[in-house]
Amino acid sequence: MIKEAVNYQVPDLHGYYGEFGGAYIPEMLQRNVTELKEQYLKIMAEPSFVQEFELLLKDYVGRPTPLFKAERLSAEFNTNIYLKREDLCHTGAHKINNTIGQILLAIRLGKTRIIAETGAGQHGVATATVCALKGIECIVYMGEKDIERQAPNVARMQMLGAKVVPATSGSKTLKDATNEAIRDWINHPIDTHYIIGSVVGPHPYPDMVAKFQSVISKEIRTQLKEKTNSELPSHIIACVGGGSNAAGAYYHFLNEPTVQIVAVEAAGKGVYSGMSAATTQLGKQGILHGSKSLLMQTDDGQVVEPHSISAGLDYPGIGPMHANLYTSGRGHFVSATDEEALEAAFHLSKTEGIIPALETAHAFAVLGKLNLTPSDTVVVCLSGRGDKDLATYMKTIQTDL
Ligand SMILES: *Cc1c(COP(=O)(O)O)cnc(C)c1O
Repeated sequence: MIKEAVNYQVPDLHGYYGEFGGAYIPEMLQRNVTELKEQYLKIMAEPSFVQEFELLLKDYVGRPTPLFKAERLSAEFNTNIYLKREDLCHTGAHKINNTIGQILLAIRLGKTRIIAETGAGQHGVATATVCALKGIECIVYMGEKDIERQAPNVARMQMLGAKVVPATSGSKTLKDATNEAIRDWINHPIDTHYIIGSVVGPHPYPDMVAKFQSVISKEIRTQLKEKTNSELPSHIIACVGGGSNAAGAYYHFLNEPTVQIVAVEAAGKGVYSGMSAATTQLGKQGILHGSKSLLMQTDDGQVVEPHSISAGLDYPGIGPMHANLYTSGRGHFVSATDEEALEAAFHLSKTEGIIPALETAHAFAVLGKLNLTPSDTVVVCLSGRGDKDLATYMKTIQTDL
């Protein structure tokens, strides 16, 4: 094991990245979170764990995912653009890297019951998938409104054997589903593991999820070396909802000062339109879902409902690692509107023959804003495929006709 210094990559012992992170949890959750905190690094370092995790990533998820040189896009922007194809993972996005890691961890902690929360249903599907793989009971909390809006993913989870439980309080969306999941965990402290889907939540979740996703940048380094003779790109670009695909894509470059870290948030109908999810631009320090981070809130601290055309970026917070990248200046934060993301999705489809997820399209929408040069090597994390977004894309085609 390489000893890791305190840096942009890993939090301190209490889970802080600079001033962000920590574990702000009710007394009733202390026991579960402490157990996890004391065990996660130990279990993740066990040779049998590493072996099983790597084998499943290879044979079940389909890793390593390709690093593809996008020739037509490169020519258009007069630079060198490589796509990290997380869209080719089993279930169609990067989320499965994390759920595989957490199910293996849960089994080693002796847990027999898995809970999760989901907004659009992507994390719910990735969780239901690994529970089916391991034959473990799976309960997914989902806002009643989201259950109506995301019917295909609800059907997928049910087909995979999960029980989807509606959250009927508040706005009946992700925030309320999270509250229900936390309530469940408090009531089942012994046998249940809560699989969180992004680099959010109380310590150790942000660090644990970032480590499971860090396989993305580990592979990029090896693949870039083969293709360009250097392991380091000039830019690495990813969209940020909670920030897990970004954390994975950045991880092994965070302490390489020559690599520009580019984070793309969802600006919705415009950063200052009142319908946006650009957390770093609009947020202030606050506590959400167990950690201190940047958070969209009113002057008296009420969480503001975010808006993005992509359900996966429609989140009022951001993981503590990213809040630290923003305030320290290590990360370059930009945003793309709903309209720019739609346009980028159609453009990538026609230019490279790859239909991206709407979340992912935000990362492509900023290529023209970065002053790229012919000597640059740009890696874009292609976090997921667009099948789930076809209804939205079709609406756009119809309005354009
Ligand atoms: C969920 C999702 C995201 C956003 O989540 P992060 O934790 O920020 O990565 C991005 N892209 C795709 C394809 C997703 O499914």
